[in-house]
Amino acid sequence: MSRVAVYTGTFDPPTLGHLDLIRRAMRLADRLVIGVANNSSKSPFFTMEQRVALLRQEVAAIEGDIEIREFEGLAVNFARANSLLVAVKCGGHSHSGQSTCDKGMQIDLSTFRSVRIDPAARRVWATGGTLLGQIDKETAPHELVTPLGTVSHTGVGGLTLGGGFGRIARKFGMAVDNLESVDIVTADGKLVHASASENPELYWGARGGSGNFGVVTQFEFKLHPMKREVIAGQVLFPLAKMRDMLTLWGEYAPTAPDELYVDPTVMQPPGNAPGMAMLQVCYCGAPADAEKALAPIRKLGPVKDTIKTMEYVQVQRSQDSTDTRAIASYLKGGFVGKVPGELVTAMVDGFHGDPRRTTVLFFQHCGGAGSRIADDATAFAHRYAIGNMMAVVAWPIGDKDASVHIEAARAYWKTLEPFTRGFYVNDMAREVTAKDINENYRGNYQRLVALKTKYDPTNLFRLNANVTPMKA
Ligand SMILES: Cc1cc2nc3c(=O)[nH]c(=O)nc-3n(C[C@H](O)[C@H](O)[C@H](O)COP(=O)(O)OP(=O)(O)OC[C@H]3O[C@@H](n4cnc5c(N)ncnc54)[C@H](O)[C@@H]3O)c2cc1C
Repeated sequence: MSRVAVYTGTFDPPTLGHLDLIRRAMRLADRLVIGVANNSSKSPFFTMEQRVALLRQEVAAIEGDIEIREFEGLAVNFARANSLLVAVKCGGHSHSGQSTCDKGMQIDLSTFRSVRIDPAARRVWATGGTLLGQIDKETAPHELVTPLGTVSHTGVGGLTLGGGFGRIARKFGMAVDNLESVDIVTADGKLVHASASENPELYWGARGGSGNFGVVTQFEFKLHPMKREVIAGQVLFPLAKMRDMLTLWGEYAPTAPDELYVDPTVMQPPGNAPGMAMLQVCYCGAPADAEKALAPIRKLGPVKDTIKTMEYVQVQRSQDSTDTRAIASYLKGGFVGKVPGELVTAMVDGFHGDPRRTTVLFFQHCGGAGSRIADDATAFAHRYAIGNMMAVVAWPIGDKDASVHIEAARAYWKTLEPFTRGFYVNDMAREVTAKDINENYRGNYQRLVALKTKYDPTNLFRLNANVTPMKA
């Protein structure tokens, strides 16, 4: 079977970076189809004819079977015409590996990363492969911000299409609540703009309906004024205080001010190092009110308290990983609306570390502004959640005991799952069934089916929290 690579872009003009990628593609594939995007409004320098001519000139020296075509949405058309399974990759953070596939085609947007900001209009635009940190970096100098996730190398694409929780979401809403418009290449290869005034139903579906409707080439977000500095850090406790800490968080999480975000995390590292419990904090309100907001979480008497004034951008990078390929991990997650004592007992009793792996239990703090939005206002339908609870195990790649680690996480989760109500599609495990996914969209499911049937009737985009289209 011959391997065909597809490379698309505006090539306005072709750069050394483009040529390097073309050379690399030719080492991997037998044939390369280059699609020059017919999107004149976003290609201000050269006309389509000039861009194609320049590219032909540059590519002439590269050996191999290379075809250059003008296109709109070529990668999608190519996949559809060849009945290929399609994976779309932005940041590549999908826990269940939805952005890659075997015996199919990956539309890799990681060379399609750029951010444009209009501070006066309080808007930011990011292309489909952009990482969160790129947006924060561009907006922070203007003392403007849009709420995204907590790790700067997460993709804007996957995070936003599924919902988007982060350190300032309680104050400004989730990523979907700040999404003003999207440009999507739908399954028929057309580029569709969707906003409150144009294709509003598709705009609704893009805000929580996962990657079901096509490849998003551009996201437009609202910006909010925020000082460059926030008050952030961790309070640490010995593992023996896990119960007290989780009880305290369960009580304080629903009543904390919107400006305060507190993630409880319990971790047992591999080897013989002691485990620890901690509250990871970010406070984005007026500094004068911070002490009052933080007092309840300091009440337990932490062994270490690192909370201090920090640049928001620095906080956003504080949990980044230097080499994301170094570990394998498995995650189970679900939303909780409250944290009863029985849940705390289940969390404590079932938490067992093992020297062969890292064992983590943590919550993302939800609620606040994101919870004051109706469940059917966007496709994301879990506004009741006060926390996204996650149990994770991680082990070195290549470890033959992978199934032992996975089973340990599943066994723990069995005791926690009864306290959850729905799950975050962005944390979905592979074994989740179509029925589970349908139910998880709650009252929004039928509306999503209608949208899916309209924009992707053959289910070309199915590596996501998939909505099955109606049969023709
Ligand atoms: C280390 C880490 C930290 C995280 N922190 C947070 C957090 O703080 N808050 C939070 O809400 N979530 C968080 N998540 C979960 C995260 O939201 C999901 O993993 C999300 O899917 C990542 O998006 P991505 O673009 O990086 O992933 P990818 O693996 O590239 O894509 C994930 C899914 O989205 C689809 N997709 C991606 N981009 C596009 C696009 N442009 N058009 C159409 N479909 C697209 C893919 O096809 C795939 O189905 C975290 C995950 C990790 C691994």
